Amino acid sequence: MKPLIYLDYAAATPVYPEVSKKMMECLSIDGFFGNPASSSHHYGVDAQTLVQQARQDVADLIGATANEIIWTSGATESDNLAIKGVAELAQSGHIITSAIEHKAVLDTCAKLEKKGFSVTYLQPQTDTGLILPEMVEQAIRADTILVSLMMVNNEIGTVTDVKKIGEMTYQKGIKFHVDAAQAAGKLPIDVRAMHIDLLSLSGHKVYGPKGIGVLYVNSNLHVEAQMHGGGHENGMRSGTLATHQIVGMGEAFKIAKEKLNSEQSRLKELRDYLFNSLNEMTTIQLNGDLDQSVANYLNVSFTGDDALGIINAIKHVVAISSSSACNSKLKKPSHVLVGLGREAVFANQSIRFSFGGYTTKAQLDTLLNYIKKHLELKKRFVTFV
Ligand SMILES: *Cc1c(COP(=O)(O)O)cnc(C)c1O
Repeated sequence: MKPLIYLDYAAATPVYPEVSKKMMECLSIDGFFGNPASSSHHYGVDAQTLVQQARQDVADLIGATANEIIWTSGATESDNLAIKGVAELAQSGHIITSAIEHKAVLDTCAKLEKKGFSVTYLQPQTDTGLILPEMVEQAIRADTILVSLMMVNNEIGTVTDVKKIGEMTYQKGIKFHVDAAQAAGKLPIDVRAMHIDLLSLSGHKVYGPKGIGVLYVNSNLHVEAQMHGGGHENGMRSGTLATHQIVGMGEAFKIAKEKLNSEQSRLKELRDYLFNSLNEMTTIQLNGDLDQSVANYLNVSFTGDDALGIINAIKHVVAISSSSACNSKLKKPSHVLVGLGREAVFANQSIRFSFGGYTTKAQLDTLLNYIKKHLELKKRFVTFV
């Protein structure tokens, strides 16, 4: 079988060859396999040096300093550490998040609700899916301790104005956590200018390996550890540092910084081409907002005749998700699309295309030609019966 064209970069990105090469060097006897916490010999010290370089590379992409980077197992853990870590220190209070966050945030907030915290789930603007700063402002209460919002939505690609929200939370002394798993490498991030206290990152969304992530914790702040042990990472996250994963993420983020400005314009052209072409062929409804979004996503519902036939044709040539990878196992309409006010049936007829470093116009043409052929065959069939 011909391999499918990969248009599911929002679920995982391939590791760049130069990244995997650096990772391999951290594993073997003639490489940097030592424990970065072993300070009494060069095996450990060399590994520690590499970990520090990676810390710096990740910090550079988000305007942080290296000592503010806490290594975790991924953005899921980072979200848990940020939200539970702030809540447990505060002991009680109110949290503001949105109904279209990643499950790592939603499920963590639900857990805290059971423990007595109160949580407001902001509903996005119908149609665009945007969470607006005014919505946050209206939800703030005297006992609000934390606002947790994603910078880029992982299903529809919309961008939240975190700078404006950050100014607001900063003035009111409320902690601000941002899940930037889908924003890193796509948008400039400056945690200082944006007044972000905590920021979650994932390696495998940015051409690094899976199983590694970061929580940026502002140096004025401390969060309650969720993993106890050797007191690694300023006591906020214990566990032997996974040198190869860390070095991989650092290298991937260094490359992301170099590519930051060039990729968006290239992908925007591809995304608009796909959107316009699909629009000409059949009836689609956009989920999201093409202006206030990153160019890596196109989420559309097929709402015309033969919607399911077209979706099946698409799935025959490209690897895509009908929803986020975490939701698609559940076969439930996406909580993001339902949050947008989509009827469940349209939510189930939606496709998230997500583009990345290896996406080409030729790939999109292959897809479009396949759909065109499907529609022609269908028309001929209908004419003859
Ligand atoms: C992928 C993703 C996560 C989870 O990251 P992992 O590293 O896979 O745990 C969290 N939030 C968002 C927005 C994501 O896209």
